[in-house]
Amino acid sequence: MKDFGFTGGRPDPHTFPTEGLIAASEKALRKLGGDLVNYPGESGYRGLRELASMRFERREGVPLPIDNISITSGSMQALELVLGTLINPGDTVLTEEYTYGGTLGIMRHFKANIVGVPMDYIDGMNMDALEAKLAELKRQNIRPSFIYTTSNHQNPTGAILSLERRHRMLALAEEYDTRIVEDDCYGDIDFTSTPTPASLFKLDTSNRVIFIATFSKILGAGVRQGYFVAREPYWGQIHQNRWDGGTSALASAIVAEFFMEHLEVHLVKTNAAVGAKCRAVVETLEKHVSDLCTWTRPRGGLFLWIDLPETTDLNKLQELASAKGVGYSNGSAFHYASESVKAIRLAYAYCHVDDIPEGITYLCEAIRAAQVN
Ligand code: PMP
Repeated sequence: MKDFGFTGGRPDPHTFPTEGLIAASEKALRKLGGDLVNYPGESGYRGLRELASMRFERREGVPLPIDNISITSGSMQALELVLGTLINPGDTVLTEEYTYGGTLGIMRHFKANIVGVPMDYIDGMNMDALEAKLAELKRQNIRPSFIYTTSNHQNPTGAILSLERRHRMLALAEEYDTRIVEDDCYGDIDFTSTPTPASLFKLDTSNRVIFIATFSKILGAGVRQGYFVAREPYWGQIHQNRWDGGTSALASAIVAEFFMEHLEVHLVKTNAAVGAKCRAVVETLEKHVSDLCTWTRPRGGLFLWIDLPETTDLNKLQELASAKGVGYSNGSAFHYASESVKAIRLAYAYCHVDDIPEGITYLCEAIRAAQVN
């Protein structure tokens, strides 16, 4: 049976640049040669840190401080290191009420008390709600360790934290003396020519923001190249918890060689391909379930969030959809407290564009058949 692949947040395999990476591998190996007998060191291959800085500058107009970048095995390791350092068991952390399940898993592993902040699907976390939560915690003498946010093309809703909200989040972090972990996993996946608002990291003037990014979503998760950017005292504290000897310099050098030459062209090409898939999903949903459901219309990222009618039998939906090879993620996987919600997340970049109408039509039929009265 066909697997339509709407489950995981993977990029488009058809635009994976195999040939370009073969050429980059040869260059990387010739450049590194015998240097590969050494450990990469705690902050990783310098060439990839330079590339990460350039990547940031392309969007934000200013480079990242190269000596504050640490290369990690995907951004998952960055999250594990950063969150593991900032969380002491029992600490309170704040996040959007729907967020990436992997981050929630790490927070739970380190025994954080997770407080979900209401959000909307367009502009992200609601700042009045954040202020109310912070004030309520203060009354209980609780200073949260940090606010975690995926500021651009959020997983799972596609929301982009507006510039006004970014300024307000920074002001609140200052007022309540807490920190911000900004996860920019999806910032470069944008189908429009409108720039996303300046990052919290760029806007920060009081060293409260730790920035996390990855190459998983613009290249592939299999390369396992991500990074965090932190200043002292966080830099030193985080590295005290790091024992892996550093991330593969060979993999880092291949990615650096490739993107030093092809970043712009690759992003234009992959964003066009992913954008077309997103539109195909939206068009098919509009055709079949506009009387039943509402959904987001992302301008970037890899995900679309569908609110289902309250009358949906979630088990039945899953059964019917999977019988047709249609997977998706249940909304509860993204809820800060794992509450069951009548919503699902679709990841649209992996499926072949020509298969999307068929797969989404099956999903729509399953949604209709899963209604109970
Ligand atoms: N952050 C977010 C918001 C994600 O959605 C993901 C992957 N789905 C990650 C981090 C981890 O990605 P990776 O380790 O592959 O960089």
